[in-house]
Amino acid sequence: MKSLVVVGAGPMGLEAALGALERGFAVTVLEKGRVGENLRRYGATRLFSPFAMNVSARVKALLGASAPAAEELLTGEEMAERVLEPLARTPLLARRIRTGHAVTAIRPARGAKASTPARRSTVRNGGGLLARSFA
Ligand SMILES: Cc1cc2nc3c(=O)[nH]c(=O)nc-3n(C[C@H](O)[C@H](O)[C@H](O)COP(=O)(O)OP(=O)(O)OC[C@H]3O[C@@H](n4cnc5c(N)ncnc54)[C@H](O)[C@@H]3O)c2cc1C
Repeated sequence: MKSLVVVGAGPMGLEAALGALERGFAVTVLEKGRVGENLRRYGATRLFSPFAMNVSARVKALLGASAPAAEELLTGEEMAERVLEPLARTPLLARRIRTGHAVTAIRPARGAKASTPARRSTVRNGGGLLARSFA
């Protein structure tokens, strides 16, 4: 099974983690603060688009009846507390998210190849480290 590290438990990080799980990756999410840390900083400022436009169908399905109404304009803090936190507590994600872990370095796993289409070259990286974080 391939391992994947997602940096950040914001809306995109959690969506990416769910998408990668569906594709069979062993996912770990490293978040330097709390789940939805940046959105929490908006405080009472509302998002620009209604809830239904801000998450995928898979997130709506996971939240079920507890999901906000489609037309609700959530504040950043509400998005973190009513959507991202409950999502992070679902059995799919609960054991995969490590909060309080700031990623300080990333490089491809040992033997990983990264192609650069512009120059049509292949880059090999001998390291085994996926990501380094500190708590
Ligand atoms: C007033 C306002 C209204 C908005 N309205 C909308 C809207 O209606 N719809 C919409 O789609 N977008 C809206 N946005 C933009 C919205 O903030 C982004 O779309 C969304 O937050 C992006 O999610 P993200 O997960 O990519 O990034 P973020 O929400 O920024 O999450 C990144 C996460 O990564 C963590 N992180 C960062 N660096 C590290 C590191 N080195 N190690 C570990 N963790 C790290 C952070 O702590 C954070 O939790 C709005 C923005 C503002 C300011």
